[in-house]
Amino acid sequence: MERRAGLSPILAPALALALIPMACARTPDGAPGDGAYPPSEAVALLAPGLSPAELELRVMQFAPAVLDFDDTSLEPWERQVLAKLIEASDVMHEIFAQQVSPRTAEWWSALARAGGAGQEAALAYFDIMVGPWDRLEHNAPFLDVGPKPAGAGFYPPDLTGDELDAWVAAHPEDAEAFTGYFTVIRREGSGIVAVPYSEAYRPQLERAAALLREAADLAEEPTLARYLRSRADAFLSDDYFQSDMDWMDVASRIEPTIGPYEVYEDGLRGYKAAFESFVTVADPAASAALDELKGHLRALEQALPIEDRYKNLERGFESPIRVVDLAYSAGDTRAGVQTIAFNLPNDERVREAKGSKKVMLRNVAHAKFERILSPIAQEVLVPATAAQIAFEPWFTNVLMHELAHGLGPGNITLENGEQTTVNRALRERYSAIEEAKADVTGLHSMSVLQQKGVFTADFVRRAYASHTADLFRAVRFGAGEAHGMANLLQFNWFREKGVITLDEATGRFRVDLAAMVAANRELARELLTLQARGSYERAGEILERYGKMDPAMQAAVDRLGSVPVDIRPRYAVRLKMQEW
Ligand code: ZN
Repeated sequence: MERRAGLSPILAPALALALIPMACARTPDGAPGDGAYPPSEAVALLAPGLSPAELELRVMQFAPAVLDFDDTSLEPWERQVLAKLIEASDVMHEIFAQQVSPRTAEWWSALARAGGAGQEAALAYFDIMVGPWDRLEHNAPFLDVGPKPAGAGFYPPDLTGDELDAWVAAHPEDAEAFTGYFTVIRREGSGIVAVPYSEAYRPQLERAAALLREAADLAEEPTLARYLRSRADAFLSDDYFQSDMDWMDVASRIEPTIGPYEVYEDGLRGYKAAFESFVTVADPAASAALDELKGHLRALEQALPIEDRYKNLERGFESPIRVVDLAYSAGDTRAGVQTIAFNLPNDERVREAKGSKKVMLRNVAHAKFERILSPIAQEVLVPATAAQIAFEPWFTNVLMHELAHGLGPGNITLENGEQTTVNRALRERYSAIEEAKADVTGLHSMSVLQQKGVFTADFVRRAYASHTADLFRAVRFGAGEAHGMANLLQFNWFREKGVITLDEATGRFRVDLAAMVAANRELARELLTLQARGSYERAGEILERYGKMDPAMQAAVDRLGSVPVDIRPRYAVRLKMQEW
């Protein structure tokens, strides 16, 4: 079950750097640094007080990782379509760079022309962050360019949220355009105007639309061709509804997700969608394995460790999860930390009509397992436990976590007869409890599937071991957020039950994997039952009692400084394409 290991040679860094498109031909009206332009040394462009050595350390937080996929069984037309999609993705990257700031290209050129100490690291970090602001440090600038405007490049840099709100209040007829996903705001005369993406990024979107149409002409699979054509139309009309609908129906082995989607880059009001692209290739074996898991969902609901009256057998067990390999990504999603899954589209009208798709990026997950989770396990677990962790069981457990969100109580009746949902009943305590529930219910379900002969005992034991390493991963960067809290809850529960014990001599943890199965089932019973009862109080008690950082765990986490924060993708498709 081990994943094929034959990865292509690492791409030359220069190639990755060349992917930042530098289409901007305008005369620079300024460059980072107030000194002479162009400066001769890159170090003069760095943010005040930042040394080249420090910047190199920041680059090293991102471990280069080759994202490979199986292209041997692709049809010739599939390869041709992939090549077009990668070209179109580079256009998305170019637009996104402009959405980060209209000056991104100009700053890049200044760095590229500069020489000397710090240039290599600055170019690399600029490439990772897509721009001169550090996404791991609340957008602090690493070049001497000043703070990042909250509204990135979507709004005039000096426009405040209040000014925007006041304009919209005074011009209600503008509200839809100004607060829409697919416009940028510009100053014009004494006022502001909303410019549709199709105008603001006209040359790029025309190029991208042409590439998608060429891809559609090559595509021999009708759902893919339909999506590519309707998305090309959307680039020029700003109406993405039909193409989002068509995306839900794509049944091709090659699946692109390309266009403006998430609004996180707009820190001013969260209105504006950033361009991005995921070009993925489905792995037939992984898809079949997932389908098999989905086929067991009803039985898994039946096997939940709770009273029968709390089981939710009325619910639908359709789960629109896909497992794919990422061949290429660009734009918003390539900037900073890499995602291992996404859930789209965001348009509520499409979600209402067709639901949404959760896409899991298996080769990205594999790279993170190798470069991050595995080193964490070596550092925090005793060797006997660390030796048990493995990718396939871990990834299956990640899938089970996602499927387990769809198991257990949803719509509930409180003791006083009130009909509500778990989410409404648990309020701000819901997210941490729900994440912990998905973890423990997913693991419990793996034990159930072991009894049914779906998994071997060894596979499930490795899933439990890998999960204990995972508990340290999310708390590395703080326990404030739902996943971090959910992990502390489990860790402390297992500590209390004697499942996880500290090896005083090494500061590493030992896990009794046999005892963990029962303790995990008990925690699943606890969390699912409190959800079924909608008990806000019990949720509070549990989070209070188990949600605190254990000093021994903190000490172990403190030793993880040299483990990479994330991966830096190198796309094997770039090399493969040369052979096609
Ligand atoms: Zn989750």
